[in-house]
Amino acid sequence: MFDALVVNKDEDGKTSAAVTQIGLEDLPQGDVVVAVEYSTINYKDGLCIGPGGGLVRNYPHVPGIDFAGTVESSEDDRYKPGDKVVLTGWRVGEAHWGGYAQKARVKADWLVPLPEGLDTRQAMAVGTAGFTAMLAVMALEDHGLTPDTPNPVLVTGASGGVGSVATAIFGKLGYSVAAVTGRMDNAEYLSSLGATTIVPRADLAETIKRPLEAETWAGAVDAVGGDMLARLLGQMEYGASVAAVGLAGGANLPATVVPFLLRGINLLGIDSVMQPYDNRVRAWGRIATDLPMDKLEAMVQPATLSDLPKLGADILNGQVKGRVVVDVN
Ligand code: NDP
Repeated sequence: MFDALVVNKDEDGKTSAAVTQIGLEDLPQGDVVVAVEYSTINYKDGLCIGPGGGLVRNYPHVPGIDFAGTVESSEDDRYKPGDKVVLTGWRVGEAHWGGYAQKARVKADWLVPLPEGLDTRQAMAVGTAGFTAMLAVMALEDHGLTPDTPNPVLVTGASGGVGSVATAIFGKLGYSVAAVTGRMDNAEYLSSLGATTIVPRADLAETIKRPLEAETWAGAVDAVGGDMLARLLGQMEYGASVAAVGLAGGANLPATVVPFLLRGINLLGIDSVMQPYDNRVRAWGRIATDLPMDKLEAMVQPATLSDLPKLGADILNGQVKGRVVVDVN
């Protein structure tokens, strides 16, 4: 028997989450059993610990959309006991039981071998948010972004999980980084991660008045969407790209097509959930080499399985800062 955070739903549709003992026979089908070491918390986890947000199909449910650990047994040739692995996406923790347990049984296709230079705790300090930040940086590079441009790169929602890691990666790679935040008291934290300029959220919050403004940014990782994304499209330098990652500020895009037509701007969609295997391996490899681990460590706050019900509520209320690493043991 081992510990898991199990969410149940009563007859009135009310959910409750508690640390409970379960056995291997309770785990869903899959071809690899992983002894989970660390997980983390994401907005989706907050939903799945609580009311489900339409993501959870069946109860009882074990949330946790990402985890890292050691293979305990495998029916798939690609993995053997003792291998270190990381999992993000594939609707694990939503449709399939996830990482808030000391063991998980999953499909081998969903796993990625942990790269050299990264341990399981660091992998969850990165988590889905950091993995997505790296996918965004890689997409921008694949579209021609290099550190030797005169204009800075822009990161929106910079104090959040995606934004913090994107800022740290760009900083390590030698970019000038402009970090957009609504919490100016985080300015010192963002500078310590690698931001060279802090942009108050209010500067970019207004709805666009003109489709084109001065060419200000060499590229952008946008975690906010909405009016802010619409606005910054008109501020990109000629031929530059914006990686659209999130919707912390809204799902609408009240923009014009003018920046695409007159400045050749690219809008790159970033999805971490169904990302193909080869690009996952590439992203985790880049994380191991291009993310400053000391800066990552400074973002971490530790937690245990029993902290998760409160953390779930906190993340839904926007009260979690930096990266939470959950030691499930
Ligand atoms: P966080 O909640 O940690 O960070 C979001 C940040 O956005 C906040 O810290 C805040 O930064 C800023 N923000 C919040 N509300 C607003 C607002 N109304 N207007 C402008 N800025 C705002 O989330 P994550 O970093 O984990 O995720 C960011 C986004 O990316 C989310 O929408 C998430 O759903 C999405 N996501 C997408 C993935 C994908 O596969 N595409 C994977 C993972 C996440 P500050 O205080 O500095 O202003």
